Amino acid sequence: MDCIFCQIASGKIPGDIVYQDQEIIAFRDINPKAPLHLIIIPRKHIPSLDQLKESDAALVGRMVAVANRLAKDEGVAEKGYRLAVNCGTEGGQLVPHLHIHLLGGRQLSDSLG
Ligand code: AMP
Ligand code: ZN
Repeated sequence: MDCIFCQIASGKIPGDIVYQDQEIIAFRDINPKAPLHLIIIPRKHIPSLDQLKESDAALVGRMVAVANRLAKDEGVAEKGYRLAVNCGTEGGQLVPHLHIHLLGGRQLSDSLG
């Protein structure tokens, strides 16, 4: 498997990991777009939002819960933060392994596109 996020999850390549459990792992983005920029992924290789199955609903719910907890732990929850998921080419997705971006620590742009 040459997926870069699978390789971070399995420890084959290093990542600045801030959280992990049996299903989910979170690490700092290598090219941060904000003072806080974390990536939250499932350990399981799901290529994109578009590939989600109904049976993945609880997993995605847990990913959001982990993101919210990290926002608190990293001190951005009070002022505000953004969760974003890019899907597919026109959605701006570069890494084909489902991930949530957690951005915070500055006033974010009001433009989403
Ligand atoms: P996306 O465009 O939504 O697919 O976002 C992919 C994100 O992964 C980008 O923000 C990249 O900076 C980040 N990224 C790519 N490779 C790595 C890596 N090895 N470690 C941490 N973040 C990475
Ligand atoms: Zn993967």
